[in-house]
Amino acid sequence: MTPIASAPRIAVVGAGIVGLAHAVAALDAGYRVTVVEQDSAAVLASVRNFGHVGASVQAGELRELAEESLPIWHSLVERAGVEARRSGTLVVARSAAEEAVLHELMGRAPERARLLSGAETGDALRLDPSVRPRAAALLPDDITANPRTTVARIAAWVDAHERGEVRFGTTVHAVETGARGGVEVVTSRGALEADHVVVAAGHLLGRLFPEVAERGGVRECALQMVRVRAPHAMGLGPAVLTGTSMLRYGAFEGPAAEALRAELARDRPELLEIDANVMLTQQDDGTLLVGDSHATHDTAPPFLDERWSQLLLDEAAALLGARRLEVLERWQGVYAASDRRRILRESPVPGVTAVSVTTGTGMTVGLALGARTIAALPAAGRASAVPPAG
Ligand SMILES: Cc1cc2nc3c(=O)[nH]c(=O)nc-3n(C[C@H](O)[C@H](O)[C@H](O)COP(=O)(O)OP(=O)(O)OC[C@H]3O[C@@H](n4cnc5c(N)ncnc54)[C@H](O)[C@@H]3O)c2cc1C
Repeated sequence: MTPIASAPRIAVVGAGIVGLAHAVAALDAGYRVTVVEQDSAAVLASVRNFGHVGASVQAGELRELAEESLPIWHSLVERAGVEARRSGTLVVARSAAEEAVLHELMGRAPERARLLSGAETGDALRLDPSVRPRAAALLPDDITANPRTTVARIAAWVDAHERGEVRFGTTVHAVETGARGGVEVVTSRGALEADHVVVAAGHLLGRLFPEVAERGGVRECALQMVRVRAPHAMGLGPAVLTGTSMLRYGAFEGPAAEALRAELARDRPELLEIDANVMLTQQDDGTLLVGDSHATHDTAPPFLDERWSQLLLDEAAALLGARRLEVLERWQGVYAASDRRRILRESPVPGVTAVSVTTGTGMTVGLALGARTIAALPAAGRASAVPPAG
């Protein structure tokens, strides 16, 4: 086993889920790890999301990464006290077109997925019988995490690790080839030298590597979110997706989803205009995270459009059979978006990996992305593996 002081060092820029995924994988592989985060706590995309680890609704490479991420989430519940539970995902259909999408989905859904009747769907959400939907697909393996505590818990675990360290309140100004053959990370609190650097700056990647962000077509996708009080006692159930979600995730793609898109364009154009994905997750404190709209910009304006929030709230209220939902908080989230690639992975400088999830699925795929990056590092700089520390 490599003595601690001579283990190769990895520096990670960004303490969001993607940066911390790399930090955890690097610690498990025996590296020394220093995470550098500009804010005094991570407050960007990784805390503003639904906490939905929706593996079952992804397709292709995202699905593979998502499935690899699930066991890592479970291990972080054990090791780092991450608040995450196997909630499953309930995809609710309220029209014939939506139900047709579910029937297509079932052909390629995970083995344990089940199609629920309207009554079973109502029971799962503890709805009044008068508002029963038509049907739902229950995808049991997906996870709901508490997005407000997750990255803080992982960062605390990294910082407490004998080979780990997290430097908050430290901005990285440059990442460049170092004088001694490694990589130099120039920060607002001095420089540090590492054998390898992972830049996981989310939508802020272009501040450090503008050409990489430009080549990757990275822009800012702004989303409107609300936290509401659950309108009735719902227990701690699954994450809930709806018809607009069926237009968004790869697992639903097919003729039925296209027919649904045409129906919504005709009957509910306002939902498509805000690129809505009406969904919610149930949190431990009895509140619901409800969203969301999408608008992509070079730089996202900070303003929340109240009509958009109302539309999302009205949809969620109708789904739950409530007259209105009591709003507790509103916020905007921004994630990196690209119409050229789903995940950006590049090496702008030897010894540096820049990683950004450009599809709004970082909670779902990020942990596996970290594991894959670290496993692929050249053997020369690789630490001798040690068993995962508790
Ligand atoms: C509203 C919303 C809902 C979403 N819902 C889901 C969901 O339910 N499921 C899902 O899978 N995904 C979801 N996503 C997407 C997911 O949140 C993101 O893909 C993921 O959080 C990106 O993680 P990240 O670590 O790359 O970025 P971030 O969380 O943005 O972290 C990047 C970090 O890098 C730091 N940083 C940047 N530049 C520097 C620098 N120069 N020096 C030091 N530090 C720096 C930043 O301060 C930040 O803390 C959602 C996103 C939003 C906004």
